[in-house]
Amino acid sequence: MDNQSLYERYRVHFSRAIALAIVVASGIELITYFVLARAGACALSFTDPYLLHKVLLPIGLNITICVAVMAINRASKITYKAKNEVIVHGASAIAFVIAVIHREFVVNTSACLFPMILSAAFNDKKLVFRTFVFSLATITVTVICSALDGGIDLINHINYIVMYGFLIVGYFACSLSEKYSQLYLRLIKQQARDNAQLQDTLLRDSMTGLYNHRTFHMELTAAISAYQEKGRAFCLAMIDIDRFKQVNDRYGHDGGDEVLHKLATILKQFCQPEDKAFRYGGEEFAVLFCAKTMEESLPLLQKMHETFSKTKYTFTEDTITFSAGIASYCGEQSKAVFFDRADDLLYKAKENGRNQIRTDAETNVIV
Ligand code: GH3
Ligand code: MG
Ligand code: MG
Repeated sequence: MDNQSLYERYRVHFSRAIALAIVVASGIELITYFVLARAGACALSFTDPYLLHKVLLPIGLNITICVAVMAINRASKITYKAKNEVIVHGASAIAFVIAVIHREFVVNTSACLFPMILSAAFNDKKLVFRTFVFSLATITVTVICSALDGGIDLINHINYIVMYGFLIVGYFACSLSEKYSQLYLRLIKQQARDNAQLQDTLLRDSMTGLYNHRTFHMELTAAISAYQEKGRAFCLAMIDIDRFKQVNDRYGHDGGDEVLHKLATILKQFCQPEDKAFRYGGEEFAVLFCAKTMEESLPLLQKMHETFSKTKYTFTEDTITFSAGIASYCGEQSKAVFFDRADDLLYKAKENGRNQIRTDAETNVIV
């Protein structure tokens, strides 16, 4: 799962949480209103100012904000980062409505902390900071409103200081949580990279960097499946360096290793992105020409053959060559039979004098 779909899930859950918070808050508002009306503190009437300003107005505003947030969340042309902002600031707007209308210590503090907690989940430092600033602004507006109403006494002073304190502590807690989530994400990504590297090491031959014998068999099986499922043609070339033992005997293993490296480089150079080159073992190599017919594969193999025979070495002026057999898969052979076919063609190339490519079509291509 990528970041975008993870945040998509968060947003679905958070918008439901916001809707639930509005339902609960509206329920509490209505119950409080009925309790106050029974106690005679306000009238049980649709025109009662308390009902209009402190109950119906916030409920209406909050439902509107919630619906708008949900609609933006569903819009397809908006980036996921913008949608994250919208949901968090939607919660900030709801907190603003509740805080400004009620101006109660507990209500304000919880309403302003809620969007900050939401913002921490999106692993965006700037979003956490912006939400904190909005929450500070909300509390400040409630302080100004209360001051204008002349309702700030000593208790209120203390409460407002405590509210700012809660917000600041909440901001540091959310920033810390965001910071550790980022650290955790980085660790997971590093681990994924290490695993991929390890996996790649297991698939390759350490000396030449080509895929190894084990990978060859996995890829040959995969190529046969791709042929059977999608009709994707492919060819297999088996390659063996000619008289390589002599190279080792005359110039030592370092000379032999240089030849192996040079051949590996040439195979990689002429492989197209869909092709794969392998060190099958010792001085034997294999190439899978994927999504290619014999007409498309053979020229590439010929290029490899030609380039290898023209290669210059540090230890000798001699020409070193390879022999190869190449077979195209026709869909009827088992993996073992097909592999033997390509190997037989290589064997025949050796028998026929080496330094040549032998194909399926029974025609020798002497290069
Ligand atoms: P042919 O033309 O029939 O293939 O003859 P050849 O000498 O190439 O074949 P043979 O199988 O007799 O010898 C292969 C040699 O490859 C023997 C072995 O010492 C050498 N060899 C295998 N792996 C390595 C390696 O990693 N480095 C070096 N330097 N030599 C290797
Ligand atoms: Mg050989
Ligand atoms: Mg050999």
